[in-house]
Formats: sequence, structure tokens, C-alpha cells
Amino acid sequence: MFDVVVSGAGPAGSKCAEIIAKSGYKVALIERDTNWRKPCGGIVSSRIFKYYPQLRKANFQQIFSISMYSPDFYNFRYTWKNLLDPAINVDRLEFDDTIRNVAIDSGAELFDNHISFDFITKDNQNIGIKTRTPSGIKEYLGKIIIIADGMSSKLAIKSGLREKWKTKEIYTCKCAIMEGKNLLDKESNYFFFRPYKGYGWIIPLNDNKFNIGAGLAKEANVSFNVNEIYSEFLHDPNIKKFLPSLNYKEIWKAAYPLPALGVKEKCLFGDNIMIIGDAAGFVSPISGEGIHASIVSGNIAAETAIMALDNEKISRETLRRYKSHPYIKKIIRNFKLKIAIANFFFENKGRNLSKMFQLAEKEENFRDELVNMFLFNQAPSKDFLLKLK
Ligand SMILES: Cc1cc2nc3c(=O)[nH]c(=O)nc-3n(C[C@H](O)[C@H](O)[C@H](O)COP(=O)(O)OP(=O)(O)OC[C@H]3O[C@@H](n4cnc5c(N)ncnc54)[C@H](O)[C@@H]3O)c2cc1C
Repeated sequence: MFDVVVSGAGPAGSKCAEIIAKSGYKVALIERDTNWRKPCGGIVSSRIFKYYPQLRKANFQQIFSISMYSPDFYNFRYTWKNLLDPAINVDRLEFDDTIRNVAIDSGAELFDNHISFDFITKDNQNIGIKTRTPSGIKEYLGKIIIIADGMSSKLAIKSGLREKWKTKEIYTCKCAIMEGKNLLDKESNYFFFRPYKGYGWIIPLNDNKFNIGAGLAKEANVSFNVNEIYSEFLHDPNIKKFLPSLNYKEIWKAAYPLPALGVKEKCLFGDNIMIIGDAAGFVSPISGEGIHASIVSGNIAAETAIMALDNEKISRETLRRYKSHPYIKKIIRNFKLKIAIANFFFENKGRNLSKMFQLAEKEENFRDELVNMFLFNQAPSKDFLLKLK
């Protein structure tokens, strides 16, 4: 019996478990496989340091500039060295391990190799979760249940709080970590927008190692195949300029979806249950960045759970505070705006983007807003939106 059972020890679940454990409540952190490397670009903006100050000193590649290419290969580059903190590029295996250990050190109990697959119910209420483990089925009871097991969460569907993602609601991506000599500026991230709804990236992990990937958004999933666009991206002559070698060592490769339409507001909470992170859609509809928003959602859900346990009121009425927290409302609002902007980017086969990059080079304010939107998940101002029109 635990006060809180958290299913999934990714960024959202680990942050949530850490905060609850620190407050003295008993937390079970259920994880399918701690050796799984979450398919991800691994870009984490400097906002992470607020939640994990210890990462400032960690040995992850620091990033000080971004290079974005429109489909017609117009390049817009922005550098913030000596102006702002660096972003970091992480290998998710190492990153998830680091922040999971913070949760464990704070008192959360990790149950690895446990696949949660259903709820335990009593009198029509979910009172725990059932897991499959190498030694059979194990059950974990909790006063509050937190679903943090990502995009493909079974519990999120079984909770009845949301439906399965539809093809047009997701990004589908394929990425790899490769090793070999390259011509990348290792302190810069590279984005290449495509004439259809999609983009590719190259993300340096150190001098010799990089994460490379390509993805499709929403309706492009119907017309294109992710394996094909990934292979096409790798062989694009413009990409080859950065990666001239014929033989890069592929260390790891995977394909995975992510939510493309922002937070599923209606699914965030129920009676003694909350959904956080990717499982609830906390991913930027423009950049696909979700690590920071997932951690914020985990943090706020934890604070809500602590307040509910302190007051011995765990009904949906109390947990509603998670959704109405100003940070969560801000993320929801921000992501909604971004859906419209993302659509605009890709209109006219991406030519809008090319025009925007040209404008950003000429006008400082516009440039700052564009960068803040991509890098720091900030909502665009009215002025910016007017200019776009
Ligand atoms: C290709 C790709 C590229 C991306 N690039 C970036 C990027 O560069 N920057 C960025 O910020 N975001 C990026 N994202 C998004 C980012 O990966 C997610 O937003 C983030 O990982 C969400 O964290 P989470 O904890 O909610 O879910 P996850 O990271 O998916 O963690 C879920 C955890 O639950 C576990 N789990 C799953 N099912 C079960 C189960 N049944 N039982 C128990 N445990 C389970 C998993 O093993 C995992 O540890 C990318 C996503 C993809 C797919």
C-alpha cells in the first residue's frame, strides 16, 4: 500500500515521484524497463536548470546556437553565447537515469521491469495498478494514481479519461545516434524543415557523436512513410554537406510517435487519478519539445497530490487544481497558439517559413520572438502574429 503509485519513470514520472517522496508520502515508481532509451532528439532548454540545478555541471553537450533551414534551404542562425544559459543535448538513457536517481534518492521506491497494464478497482474506484513482472503479476495499491507512462499509455485509455491518439493527432519520428567525423558546429543544433508537414534534425552530442532524425506531423502521416522520409533525409545532398563520411557508426536507432496537438485538457484528472507528461500531450506542437513541459506537469501534479493527501480529499474536485494551476494553464494556452503557427509554417510548401527567416534577419524584435518561440516555448506576442499575417 502506497500513498501514490506513479506508472512510468520518464521525466514526468520521476519529477512527480521525487516531489511527493520529499514531502514524506510513500511513492511507488513503476517502470517497464530502465534500460530503454526513449526515442528522442534529447534537446533540453536551459529552463531545466530550475528543476534540476545539478544538471548545470553534468557532462552533456552545451548548445549556444540554433541553425534553422526552410524547405528551400534558406538558413537562419541564432547564437546566444555569453547572453543566455546554454541548452543541453542529452542521451536519454543517461538523462532519464540521472533524474530517476534523484527521485530514488528523495525516497521514491522504484519497481523496475514492471509493466503496468490495468487498474485494480473496488466499488467503481481505481485503487491501484496491476503490473506484469518477470516473476508474475504484482499489484500496487495507492490512494492516488498518476499515469506517466508516455505516449503509448494503456492506463490513460483504460482510465476512460482519453481516447487513443488518432493518426492526425501525432508526429511520427525516426531517429538514430551515430558516431563519426562530421562538419557540424558541436555547439549548435540544426533543424531542416520540409515542404510537407515535417522536419529533420541533427543534434551534436559531442565532437564525434550526434543524434539525427526526421519526423512527420498530423496529416503528413497519411501521405508519407516515416522510414522513407528518414532515409531520404540522411541522403539529402544538403545534409551530406555536414556529414560527408560514407560510413557513420549507428549506435542506436528507433521510431516513435509523439503528440502533435498539445495538451488533452479534458483528460488531466479524474477521481484520485492524474495524467502527466506525454500521456496527456505535454509536447510543443511546433518543436516537438516535451521534456520540460512533462517535468512541469509532473511537478504540479505532485504538489496537487500532496495537498489532496494533506487534506484527505482525493476526489476529482480537489485534483482539478492540477489543471487550473497557472503554469499548466500557461502551457495549454501557449501550445494552442502554436498549433495555428505550425500550420502557417508549412503552408505554401514551407515558403512562409522562408519569408519568416528573411524577416527575422532584418528585424531584431521579430527575430527574438521567433527564437523564443522555438527555444523557450514562449507564446508569441500580438505584434508578432500580426506581422506573420
Ligand atoms: C523522436 C522524438 C524526438 C523528440 N525530441 C525531443 C527533444 O529534442 N526535446 C524534448 O524536450 N522533447 C523531445 N521529444 C519529446 C519527449 O521525448 C517527451 O515529451 C518526453 O520524453 C515525455 O516524458 P514522459 O515522462 O511524459 O514520457 P516518456 O519519456 O515516454 O517516459 C515514459 C516512461 O514510462 C515507461 N513506461 C511505458 N509504458 C509503461 C508501462 N506500461 N508500465 C510501466 N512503465 C511504462 C517508459 O519505459 C518510460 O520510462 C521527442 C520525442 C520523440 C518521439
